Amino acid sequence: MTKTDNKGITVKKAENFSEWYSQVIQKAKLADIRVGVQGFLVHRPWGFRIMRRVYEYLEEEFEKTEHEPMLFPIAVKEESLMKEEEHAGFSPEVFWVTHAGTRKLEERFALRPTGETQIYPVYSKWFRSYNELPFKAYQSRHTVFRNEMTTRPFLRGREFAFFESHNVFSTHKECLAQIDEDMDILNKVVKDKCKIPFFYFQRPQWDKFKGADNTFTPDTLMPDGKRNQLASTHDLGQNFSKAYDIQITDKKEKQQYAWQTCFGPGIWRIMAAIIGIHGDDNGLILPFDMAPKQIVLIPIFFKEKAEQNKVSKLLNKTKNDLTKKGYRVIIDDSENSPGFKFNHWELFGVPLRIEIGPRELKDNKATIVRRTSRDKTVINIKDLDKSIEKEAKKLDEDITKNAEKYFSDNVRDSNDFKDLKKIMNKNRGFVRVPFCSVDFDGEDCADTLKAETNGGNVCGTLFPKAEKVGPKEKCIICGKKAHHKVYVAKSY
Ligand SMILES: [Zn+2]
Repeated sequence: MTKTDNKGITVKKAENFSEWYSQVIQKAKLADIRVGVQGFLVHRPWGFRIMRRVYEYLEEEFEKTEHEPMLFPIAVKEESLMKEEEHAGFSPEVFWVTHAGTRKLEERFALRPTGETQIYPVYSKWFRSYNELPFKAYQSRHTVFRNEMTTRPFLRGREFAFFESHNVFSTHKECLAQIDEDMDILNKVVKDKCKIPFFYFQRPQWDKFKGADNTFTPDTLMPDGKRNQLASTHDLGQNFSKAYDIQITDKKEKQQYAWQTCFGPGIWRIMAAIIGIHGDDNGLILPFDMAPKQIVLIPIFFKEKAEQNKVSKLLNKTKNDLTKKGYRVIIDDSENSPGFKFNHWELFGVPLRIEIGPRELKDNKATIVRRTSRDKTVINIKDLDKSIEKEAKKLDEDITKNAEKYFSDNVRDSNDFKDLKKIMNKNRGFVRVPFCSVDFDGEDCADTLKAETNGGNVCGTLFPKAEKVGPKEKCIICGKKAHHKVYVAKSY
């Protein structure tokens, strides 16, 4: 390797998160937006590897819970898209293919904006009897298309990474059990693996997915205090099975409509949370298992050639040993200075750095540094394995602790509208308030709240256990009796 030129992040995350986020994406080589059509993202190798970890973890959990993989094409028939009446709302966002070469197509088709309208007409041909259910299937590593006006890497795009499951059951009870299973999967992947804290909400009726009986979402907070919705899972009831005629004969040989759920973890949104929440002023910070490279070995060379060779030899041996044990390791033997290399790999969020120089070599020692604390620890080379294990565990603990601290520091209570407006202007975050109704009756209050807080949304009630509201508490907007504690936040 030769010398490279790479300036670090030039803004503080706490002072200008938006600029910080853009710089990390560009400088840590996660994505590229300089060339091509606006809103269509180039995923660069470093970013794509992190994203692929998210996919792998999800797929693992979906397989464990007996979902089967499937893949539908990108083209959706207009007729299917328009069938589910509620879904017609999608059409202004849909991209249409109208021509093949210079020839106008007899029947234009859409690029899928999401799976339902495409998959359910097919499901109506697949199932005849309750014996064939439950049917649990997912699609992974594909993209969907929507004509978004403002776009932001990993937050909003006109084409974005997708994952979806579409399950069919013979009873509603199974749908509710599926919602619990989806929640469990999110806990395992998003909380345990990606180290992202979130609240799981049941959305108010006016803000659910079109065509669903109920919508549930895990929402986290980005460093600017805005809510990032990480996924959504929907109890579709029999709404879609009625629209698309998915019928089965039940145990009593009676025809009935099937019950359905669908679930979409937001791969991009999870990426945005990993980048935004864990990173610091020096760049990315990645949980140990998510990092494309987990350990960087850096030689500290002295002038003498013989010593250099010895160090190089030891580094290569160490790399081989560690790789055999399953670690992802890189040696940086470029001509850049050690200081430059430290900054460079910190920018990319490599969890552990191991430095070996002639002095360490003589004593059979090495220096290990973890990305979070950046403290240097001198260790015996023969204890390298143990030290790596220990430091990796500490790193993950640091990441979890920081993320949870920010999250809990930014949940506030309010029962006064003036006070709520103040919080929404200054700190943002989640604000827990008493509210009249999460049925359609409450929509007017939610509209008022949104208008007067400059975009604050009623996110919903905590799920599965909504918090109790005191007998004398009043809706923060209309002053009528409060029936719920809801969370308010500004959103991406
Ligand atoms: Zn109200």
